[in-house]
Amino acid sequence: MESSKNLKIAEIKGEVMEINVKAKILSLSKREVQSAKGPLTYHYGLIGDETGVMPFTAWSFPTTVRENDVYEISKCYTKSYKEKLRIYFDNRTEFKLLTETMEVKRTYKYYEIKDLNLNDKFVTVEGLVTSENRREYEKDGEKKEVFQYILKDQTATIPLSSFGKKLEAGKYARIEGARLDEFNGYYRLNMSDKANVEYINIDLKDEEKIMDIVNLRGAVGGITVTGFIINMGEKSGLVVRCSECNLKVDDIRCSDHPEAPLKYDIFTYFTIDDGTDYLQVSAGFEALKEIANINREYLDNPQRPPLKKEVKEKIESALTHHALKIKGNLRINNMGISLRSTEISAITEDLVKSLKTEINGGSN
Ligand SMILES: [Zn+2]
Repeated sequence: MESSKNLKIAEIKGEVMEINVKAKILSLSKREVQSAKGPLTYHYGLIGDETGVMPFTAWSFPTTVRENDVYEISKCYTKSYKEKLRIYFDNRTEFKLLTETMEVKRTYKYYEIKDLNLNDKFVTVEGLVTSENRREYEKDGEKKEVFQYILKDQTATIPLSSFGKKLEAGKYARIEGARLDEFNGYYRLNMSDKANVEYINIDLKDEEKIMDIVNLRGAVGGITVTGFIINMGEKSGLVVRCSECNLKVDDIRCSDHPEAPLKYDIFTYFTIDDGTDYLQVSAGFEALKEIANINREYLDNPQRPPLKKEVKEKIESALTHHALKIKGNLRINNMGISLRSTEISAITEDLVKSLKTEINGGSN
Protein backbone atom coordinates (compact mmCIF):
# COMPACT_ATOMS: atom_id res chain seq x y z
CA MET A 1 0.00 0.00 0.00
CA GLU A 2 1.36 3.40 -0.90
CA SER A 3 1.57 6.00 1.80
CA SER A 4 1.61 9.69 1.01
CA LYS A 5 4.01 12.07 2.62
CA ASN A 6 3.05 14.95 4.93
CA LEU A 7 4.80 18.11 3.79
CA LYS A 8 4.90 21.78 4.66
CA ILE A 9 4.49 24.13 1.69
CA ALA A 10 8.13 25.26 1.89
CA GLU A 11 9.26 21.61 1.87
CA ILE A 12 7.60 20.89 -1.46
CA LYS A 13 10.38 20.82 -4.02
CA GLY A 14 9.90 19.70 -7.59
CA GLU A 15 7.20 17.49 -9.00
CA VAL A 16 5.90 14.93 -6.51
CA MET A 17 3.24 12.29 -7.06
CA GLU A 18 1.40 12.01 -3.78
CA ILE A 19 1.56 14.28 -0.76
CA ASN A 20 -0.57 15.56 2.11
CA VAL A 21 -0.62 19.17 3.26
CA LYS A 22 -2.28 21.08 6.07
CA ALA A 23 -3.09 24.46 4.61
CA LYS A 24 -5.39 27.42 4.45
CA ILE A 25 -7.30 28.28 1.27
CA LEU A 26 -6.21 31.89 0.67
CA SER A 27 -8.08 32.52 -2.56
CA LEU A 28 -10.48 30.55 -4.66
CA SER A 29 -11.71 31.18 -8.21
CA LYS A 30 -13.63 29.20 -10.78
CA ARG A 31 -13.04 28.98 -14.50
CA GLU A 32 -14.76 27.28 -17.41
CA VAL A 33 -12.82 26.14 -20.45
CA GLN A 34 -13.73 24.28 -23.62
CA SER A 35 -12.24 20.83 -23.82
CA ALA A 36 -12.60 18.08 -26.42
CA LYS A 37 -15.27 16.56 -24.18
CA GLY A 38 -17.22 19.80 -23.85
CA PRO A 39 -17.11 22.56 -21.23
CA LEU A 40 -14.89 21.85 -18.24
CA THR A 41 -14.99 23.71 -14.94
CA TYR A 42 -12.00 23.88 -12.66
CA HIS A 43 -10.99 25.86 -9.59
CA TYR A 44 -7.73 27.63 -8.87
CA GLY A 45 -6.22 29.89 -6.25
CA LEU A 46 -3.64 30.01 -3.51
CA ILE A 47 -3.05 27.85 -0.46
CA GLY A 48 -0.63 28.59 2.33
CA ASP A 49 0.71 27.48 5.69
CA GLU A 50 3.23 28.80 8.25
CA THR A 51 6.05 28.21 5.79
CA GLY A 52 4.82 29.64 2.50
CA VAL A 53 2.23 30.04 -0.22
CA MET A 54 1.60 28.04 -3.39
CA PRO A 55 -0.83 28.25 -6.31
CA PHE A 56 -3.22 25.35 -6.84
CA THR A 57 -5.44 23.97 -9.57
CA ALA A 58 -8.37 21.71 -8.68
CA TRP A 59 -9.85 19.51 -11.41
CA SER A 60 -12.34 18.23 -8.91
CA PHE A 61 -13.36 20.14 -5.84
CA PRO A 62 -15.87 19.69 -3.00
CA THR A 63 -18.40 22.55 -3.06
CA THR A 64 -18.04 22.86 0.73
CA VAL A 65 -14.46 24.12 0.54
CA ARG A 66 -14.26 27.82 1.36
CA GLU A 67 -11.74 30.61 1.37
CA ASN A 68 -9.99 31.26 4.72
CA ASP A 69 -10.71 27.77 6.08
CA VAL A 70 -7.92 25.40 7.09
CA TYR A 71 -7.93 21.84 5.70
CA GLU A 72 -5.98 18.67 5.90
CA ILE A 73 -5.64 17.89 2.22
CA SER A 74 -4.52 14.41 1.34
CA LYS A 75 -3.52 12.80 -1.92
CA CYS A 76 -2.54 15.77 -3.99
CA TYR A 77 0.36 16.15 -6.38
CA THR A 78 2.57 18.87 -7.83
CA LYS A 79 3.57 19.77 -11.34
CA SER A 80 5.36 22.63 -13.00
CA TYR A 81 3.15 24.93 -15.00
CA LYS A 82 4.67 27.91 -16.82
CA GLU A 83 7.91 27.31 -14.89
CA LYS A 84 6.14 27.64 -11.57
CA LEU A 85 5.36 24.77 -9.25
CA ARG A 86 1.64 24.24 -8.60
CA ILE A 87 -0.24 21.86 -6.40
CA TYR A 88 -3.04 19.87 -8.04
CA PHE A 89 -6.20 18.37 -6.57
CA ASP A 90 -8.20 15.72 -8.42
CA ASN A 91 -11.01 13.28 -7.67
CA ARG A 92 -8.81 11.20 -5.32
CA THR A 93 -7.94 14.21 -3.18
CA GLU A 94 -9.63 14.42 0.23
CA PHE A 95 -10.37 17.57 2.19
CA LYS A 96 -10.85 17.47 5.95
CA LEU A 97 -11.95 20.74 7.51
CA LEU A 98 -9.95 21.70 10.63
CA THR A 99 -11.15 24.12 13.27
CA GLU A 100 -7.72 25.52 14.06
CA THR A 101 -6.49 28.92 12.88
CA MET A 102 -3.33 29.29 10.87
CA GLU A 103 -0.90 32.17 10.45
CA VAL A 104 0.19 32.00 6.84
CA LYS A 105 3.63 33.12 5.78
CA ARG A 106 3.15 35.10 2.63
CA THR A 107 5.66 36.33 0.13
CA TYR A 108 4.65 39.37 -1.83
CA LYS A 109 5.86 40.20 -5.29
CA TYR A 110 7.40 43.62 -5.77
CA TYR A 111 5.75 46.03 -8.19
CA GLU A 112 6.56 49.50 -9.39
CA ILE A 113 3.43 51.55 -8.77
CA LYS A 114 2.68 51.91 -12.50
CA ASP A 115 2.58 48.11 -12.87
CA LEU A 116 0.13 47.40 -10.04
CA ASN A 117 -2.87 45.41 -11.23
CA LEU A 118 -5.82 43.69 -9.62
CA ASN A 119 -4.62 40.22 -10.66
CA ASP A 120 -2.13 40.41 -7.82
CA LYS A 121 -3.71 42.00 -4.77
CA PHE A 122 -1.12 41.44 -2.05
CA VAL A 123 2.09 43.15 -3.01
CA THR A 124 5.37 44.72 -2.03
CA VAL A 125 5.73 48.37 -3.04
CA GLU A 126 8.24 51.12 -2.41
CA GLY A 127 7.95 54.85 -2.43
CA LEU A 128 8.22 58.20 -0.77
CA VAL A 129 5.58 58.57 1.94
CA THR A 130 3.89 61.95 1.44
CA SER A 131 0.96 64.05 2.68
CA GLU A 132 -0.16 62.56 5.97
CA ASN A 133 -3.77 62.72 7.05
CA ARG A 134 -5.10 61.06 10.22
CA ARG A 135 -8.68 59.93 10.62
CA GLU A 136 -10.54 58.23 13.45
CA TYR A 137 -13.31 55.72 13.00
CA GLU A 138 -15.25 53.28 15.09
CA LYS A 139 -15.31 49.55 14.61
CA ASP A 140 -17.24 47.21 16.91
CA GLY A 141 -17.59 50.05 19.41
CA GLU A 142 -13.85 50.61 19.49
CA LYS A 143 -12.08 53.76 18.43
CA LYS A 144 -9.53 53.10 15.69
CA GLU A 145 -7.28 55.28 13.59
CA VAL A 146 -6.20 55.24 9.99
CA PHE A 147 -3.35 57.24 8.46
CA GLN A 148 -3.71 58.26 4.85
CA TYR A 149 -0.78 59.01 2.54
CA ILE A 150 0.19 59.32 -1.08
CA LEU A 151 2.95 56.85 -1.93
CA LYS A 152 5.19 58.02 -4.76
CA ASP A 153 7.86 56.04 -6.58
CA GLN A 154 9.69 57.01 -9.76
CA THR A 155 6.82 55.74 -11.95
CA ALA A 156 3.53 56.90 -10.38
CA THR A 157 1.60 57.68 -7.20
CA ILE A 158 -1.13 55.85 -5.29
CA PRO A 159 -3.19 56.61 -2.14
CA LEU A 160 -2.20 54.45 0.83
CA SER A 161 -4.27 53.90 3.97
CA SER A 162 -2.42 52.47 6.95
CA PHE A 163 -4.74 51.03 9.57
CA GLY A 164 -3.37 51.49 13.08
CA LYS A 165 0.21 52.18 12.04
CA LYS A 166 1.68 55.64 11.57
CA LEU A 167 4.31 55.84 8.87
CA GLU A 168 7.20 58.30 8.68
CA ALA A 169 6.13 60.92 6.19
CA GLY A 170 8.99 62.26 4.07
CA LYS A 171 10.86 58.96 4.12
CA TYR A 172 11.23 56.32 1.44
CA ALA A 173 9.58 53.10 2.57
CA ARG A 174 9.45 49.52 1.41
CA ILE A 175 6.10 47.99 2.37
CA GLU A 176 5.56 44.25 2.23
CA GLY A 177 2.01 42.97 2.34
CA ALA A 178 -0.05 45.96 1.21
CA ARG A 179 -3.39 45.12 -0.34
CA LEU A 180 -4.48 46.66 -3.63
CA ASP A 181 -8.09 47.42 -4.43
CA GLU A 182 -10.13 49.76 -6.55
CA PHE A 183 -12.59 52.39 -5.35
CA ASN A 184 -14.66 54.58 -7.64
CA GLY A 185 -12.39 53.77 -10.56
CA TYR A 186 -9.12 54.55 -8.77
CA TYR A 187 -6.59 52.13 -7.31
CA ARG A 188 -5.57 52.44 -3.67
CA LEU A 189 -3.45 50.49 -1.23
CA ASN A 190 -4.41 49.44 2.28
CA MET A 191 -2.13 48.05 4.92
CA SER A 192 -2.67 46.71 8.41
CA ASP A 193 -0.27 47.14 11.32
CA LYS A 194 1.00 43.64 10.48
CA ALA A 195 2.48 44.75 7.15
CA ASN A 196 6.25 44.92 7.21
CA VAL A 197 7.66 48.44 6.74
CA GLU A 198 11.31 49.19 6.21
CA TYR A 199 12.78 52.64 5.55
CA ILE A 200 15.40 52.85 2.85
CA ASN A 201 17.92 55.59 2.20
CA ILE A 202 16.87 56.51 -1.34
CA ASP A 203 16.62 59.98 -2.82
CA LEU A 204 13.68 59.98 -5.19
CA LYS A 205 14.78 61.90 -8.28
CA ASP A 206 12.37 64.70 -8.96
CA GLU A 207 12.29 64.18 -12.70
CA GLU A 208 9.26 63.86 -14.86
CA LYS A 209 8.73 60.54 -16.54
CA ILE A 210 6.67 60.62 -19.72
CA MET A 211 4.71 57.41 -20.14
CA ASP A 212 3.84 55.75 -23.44
CA ILE A 213 0.06 55.47 -23.56
CA VAL A 214 0.32 51.85 -24.70
CA ASN A 215 2.06 50.99 -21.41
CA LEU A 216 -0.61 52.43 -19.12
CA ARG A 217 -2.20 49.66 -17.06
CA GLY A 218 -3.70 50.40 -13.68
CA ALA A 219 -5.68 53.27 -12.21
CA VAL A 220 -2.72 54.99 -10.55
CA GLY A 221 -1.92 58.68 -10.18
CA GLY A 222 0.90 61.08 -10.95
CA ILE A 223 1.05 60.09 -14.61
CA THR A 224 2.40 62.32 -17.39
CA VAL A 225 1.71 61.71 -21.07
CA THR A 226 2.23 63.74 -24.22
CA GLY A 227 0.33 63.72 -27.48
CA PHE A 228 -1.94 65.43 -29.96
CA ILE A 229 -5.68 65.75 -29.72
CA ILE A 230 -7.37 63.56 -32.31
CA ASN A 231 -10.93 64.13 -31.16
CA MET A 232 -12.53 66.89 -29.09
CA GLY A 233 -15.58 66.11 -26.93
CA GLU A 234 -18.65 67.85 -28.29
CA LYS A 235 -20.02 68.91 -24.92
CA SER A 236 -16.76 70.58 -23.93
CA GLY A 237 -16.87 74.20 -22.83
CA LEU A 238 -18.94 76.23 -20.44
CA VAL A 239 -20.98 74.37 -17.83
CA VAL A 240 -23.36 75.65 -15.17
CA ARG A 241 -23.22 74.25 -11.65
CA CYS A 242 -25.30 74.54 -8.52
CA SER A 243 -23.32 76.53 -5.93
CA GLU A 244 -24.71 74.28 -3.19
CA CYS A 245 -24.02 70.74 -4.45
CA ASN A 246 -21.61 71.55 -7.30
CA LEU A 247 -23.49 69.26 -9.69
CA LYS A 248 -23.98 70.21 -13.32
CA VAL A 249 -27.31 71.93 -13.95
CA ASP A 250 -28.91 71.50 -17.36
CA ASP A 251 -32.05 73.45 -16.47
CA ILE A 252 -32.20 76.97 -15.06
CA ARG A 253 -31.97 75.77 -11.46
CA CYS A 254 -30.81 72.77 -9.43
CA SER A 255 -33.73 70.45 -8.75
CA ASP A 256 -32.42 69.74 -5.22
CA HIS A 257 -31.50 73.37 -4.41
CA PRO A 258 -33.81 75.64 -6.44
CA GLU A 259 -32.86 78.65 -4.26
CA ALA A 260 -29.12 78.25 -4.67
CA PRO A 261 -27.38 80.59 -7.10
CA LEU A 262 -25.71 79.01 -10.12
CA LYS A 263 -22.07 79.41 -11.07
CA TYR A 264 -20.11 79.03 -14.27
CA ASP A 265 -17.40 76.44 -14.70
CA ILE A 266 -15.43 74.90 -17.57
CA PHE A 267 -14.98 71.28 -18.51
CA THR A 268 -13.59 69.44 -21.47
CA TYR A 269 -12.85 65.93 -22.65
CA PHE A 270 -10.87 64.74 -25.61
CA THR A 271 -8.81 61.92 -27.04
CA ILE A 272 -5.06 62.22 -27.41
CA ASP A 273 -2.65 60.06 -29.37
CA ASP A 274 1.08 59.79 -28.70
CA GLY A 275 1.94 57.42 -31.52
CA THR A 276 1.82 54.33 -29.30
CA ASP A 277 -1.93 54.41 -28.57
CA TYR A 278 -4.74 56.81 -27.77
CA LEU A 279 -6.26 57.84 -24.44
CA GLN A 280 -9.43 59.56 -23.24
CA VAL A 281 -8.72 62.67 -21.14
CA SER A 282 -11.00 64.90 -19.09
CA ALA A 283 -10.14 68.30 -17.63
CA GLY A 284 -11.80 70.86 -15.39
CA PHE A 285 -11.06 74.46 -14.40
CA GLU A 286 -7.82 73.76 -12.52
CA ALA A 287 -6.24 71.91 -15.44
CA LEU A 288 -7.50 74.37 -18.07
CA LYS A 289 -7.21 77.81 -16.48
CA GLU A 290 -3.64 78.49 -17.53
CA ILE A 291 -3.51 77.06 -21.02
CA ALA A 292 -6.97 78.38 -22.00
CA ASN A 293 -6.35 81.69 -20.22
CA ILE A 294 -9.66 81.58 -18.38
CA ASN A 295 -9.76 82.83 -14.80
CA ARG A 296 -12.40 83.09 -12.10
CA GLU A 297 -12.98 86.81 -12.76
CA TYR A 298 -13.85 86.03 -16.37
CA LEU A 299 -16.34 83.33 -15.33
CA ASP A 300 -17.83 85.31 -12.41
CA ASN A 301 -18.15 88.72 -14.08
CA PRO A 302 -21.79 89.85 -13.53
CA GLN A 303 -21.41 92.70 -16.08
CA ARG A 304 -20.39 90.32 -18.81
CA PRO A 305 -21.40 86.70 -18.25
CA PRO A 306 -19.21 84.26 -20.20
CA LEU A 307 -20.50 83.24 -23.62
CA LYS A 308 -20.82 79.58 -24.48
CA LYS A 309 -19.36 79.94 -27.96
CA GLU A 310 -16.47 82.13 -26.81
CA VAL A 311 -15.47 79.71 -24.04
CA LYS A 312 -15.60 76.73 -26.35
CA GLU A 313 -13.40 78.52 -28.89
CA LYS A 314 -10.92 79.62 -26.22
CA ILE A 315 -10.52 76.02 -25.01
CA GLU A 316 -10.38 74.46 -28.47
CA SER A 317 -7.82 76.87 -29.89
CA ALA A 318 -5.66 76.48 -26.78
CA LEU A 319 -5.61 72.70 -26.94
CA THR A 320 -5.49 71.89 -30.63
CA HIS A 321 -2.83 72.32 -33.33
CA HIS A 322 0.12 71.57 -31.07
CA ALA A 323 1.42 68.87 -28.79
CA LEU A 324 0.27 68.76 -25.18
CA LYS A 325 1.83 67.53 -22.00
CA ILE A 326 -0.80 66.27 -19.61
CA LYS A 327 -0.46 65.26 -15.98
CA GLY A 328 -3.16 63.50 -14.06
CA ASN A 329 -4.62 60.42 -12.48
CA LEU A 330 -5.74 57.33 -14.35
CA ARG A 331 -9.23 56.05 -13.82
CA ILE A 332 -10.61 52.70 -14.85
CA ASN A 333 -14.16 51.75 -15.80
CA ASN A 334 -15.88 49.27 -18.08
CA MET A 335 -14.96 51.47 -21.08
CA GLY A 336 -11.28 51.12 -20.24
CA ILE A 337 -8.78 53.56 -18.85
CA SER A 338 -8.99 57.35 -18.93
CA LEU A 339 -6.98 60.25 -17.53
CA ARG A 340 -8.37 62.90 -15.16
CA SER A 341 -5.95 65.70 -15.81
CA THR A 342 -4.66 68.04 -13.14
CA GLU A 343 -2.35 70.06 -15.39
CA ILE A 344 -2.17 70.66 -19.15
CA SER A 345 0.56 72.53 -20.95
CA ALA A 346 1.53 73.09 -24.56
CA ILE A 347 4.85 71.77 -25.79
CA THR A 348 6.71 71.93 -29.06
CA GLU A 349 6.93 68.92 -31.33
CA ASP A 350 10.71 68.88 -30.94
CA LEU A 351 10.30 68.45 -27.22
CA VAL A 352 7.94 65.52 -27.80
CA LYS A 353 10.59 63.84 -29.94
CA SER A 354 13.38 64.43 -27.46
CA LEU A 355 11.23 63.14 -24.64
CA LYS A 356 10.41 59.99 -26.61
CA THR A 357 14.09 59.47 -27.32
CA GLU A 358 14.81 59.74 -23.64
CA ILE A 359 12.23 57.14 -22.68
CA ASN A 360 13.47 54.75 -25.32
CA GLY A 361 16.90 54.91 -23.76
CA GLY A 362 18.17 57.48 -26.27
CA SER A 363 18.73 54.72 -28.78
CA ASN A 364 17.39 56.29 -31.94
ZN1 LIG B 1 -27.78 71.50 -6.02
